[in-house]
Amino acid sequence: MPLELILAFLAVVVAVVALAFTLGLRTGQRRLSEDVGQVQTEVRTMRGSVDQISGELGSAQLGELTDMSSRLKALDGRIGELDGQIHELTDAPLIARALEHPRKIALVINPIKQNADQVRLQVSAAVRNAGLPDVTVYETTAEDPGQQMARDALADGADVVIAAGGDGTVRFVAEELAGTDTALGLVPLGTGNLLARNLKMPIQNLEACINTAVHGSTRHIDAVDIRLERQDGQTVHNTFLVIAGAGIDAEVMGDTRDDLKEKAGWLAYGEAGVRHLPGHRKDITLSLDGGAPQRRKVRSIMIANCGELTGGLDFIPEARLDDGLLDVVMLSPRNAFDWLRIAAKTALKINRTIPIMETHQATRVRVQLDEPMISQLDGDATGDVVAIDARIRPDALKVQTPAAAVPDSLAAPAMTEDDAEVVKD
Ligand SMILES: [Mg+2]
Repeated sequence: MPLELILAFLAVVVAVVALAFTLGLRTGQRRLSEDVGQVQTEVRTMRGSVDQISGELGSAQLGELTDMSSRLKALDGRIGELDGQIHELTDAPLIARALEHPRKIALVINPIKQNADQVRLQVSAAVRNAGLPDVTVYETTAEDPGQQMARDALADGADVVIAAGGDGTVRFVAEELAGTDTALGLVPLGTGNLLARNLKMPIQNLEACINTAVHGSTRHIDAVDIRLERQDGQTVHNTFLVIAGAGIDAEVMGDTRDDLKEKAGWLAYGEAGVRHLPGHRKDITLSLDGGAPQRRKVRSIMIANCGELTGGLDFIPEARLDDGLLDVVMLSPRNAFDWLRIAAKTALKINRTIPIMETHQATRVRVQLDEPMISQLDGDATGDVVAIDARIRPDALKVQTPAAAVPDSLAAPAMTEDDAEVVKD
């Protein structure tokens, strides 16, 4: 084959290949631009939808959405924190201890008091209903009004020791509990019930007192250490919670006729007070907080931790059970008229001071009596003394007191007929 012919054939083949390549390229380009156009259309459609939604929501609602989103984030963080705290609390030794050792309640009861059997049953039922271990009961005796029983209850690990009896039972049980972590519960079965009165307990309602002892809130009150010195030099150490004294108060409290005491409270003391007036005033030396001795002539000197007596009489209105202070009161009436002035001042809550009724506050009190005077502790006669030393023990005693009332704002409102209709609908 001549060379020209071969060259011409090759030229034709190259031209055909070039044409085919060009045609293929153009088809690819067309398809690609069609795809791009389609995507552009979809983007335009979506943008239109977004514009439409934004328009419908309005800027305020968009702002709200943003705000809600950031609040949700903050809440999520807070939930995380609280979760951590719950874990910490669950591990706290206090809760662990409470779960391990359910509260244990003991009852020290004077079995000869009226209602003693009923109180024993009611306390057992209240403790059982609260899901606590059975109550251990200790009976007081004529020889021991509560001391050894309270010691036994403490040794047995009681968290609350209920004293059910008169002021003597309360005082002897409190003497053992003061300074410990065990709380005193009060079920007043006496005539004075002085501590329960000063704690504003519902002393006429035994069931309420039992509930307070089992479920009430615990508060700290002051106790008072007292040392009484006899004429022969012997000394007696005791604790009291309300009022101690020497002189006419002790004579009156020891001598007041029980029937009058029950019916007339303070009036009975007033009647007995007038009967005891003929006694003369006695010389004493008083020292407050280790200060200089002061001489006085008195018919009575009283050292009080709180001031409410029977018959609704607030004898020392400024005295508080938890102020860390003793209130000292000296009475020096010379005749029936003076006694009436004292009775009127206290019964009518007259603030004006009268010279025959002198008051002081201190944390330590020492009284030396020139001649023996009859004494009393929380209304119990404690014999003749020639010296008294008293010292406050701030917050030494834990006591079960009525739980705080639910404030009106938190209490469920009574349902009216209208409310009932709404609920039915
Ligand atoms: Mg006080």
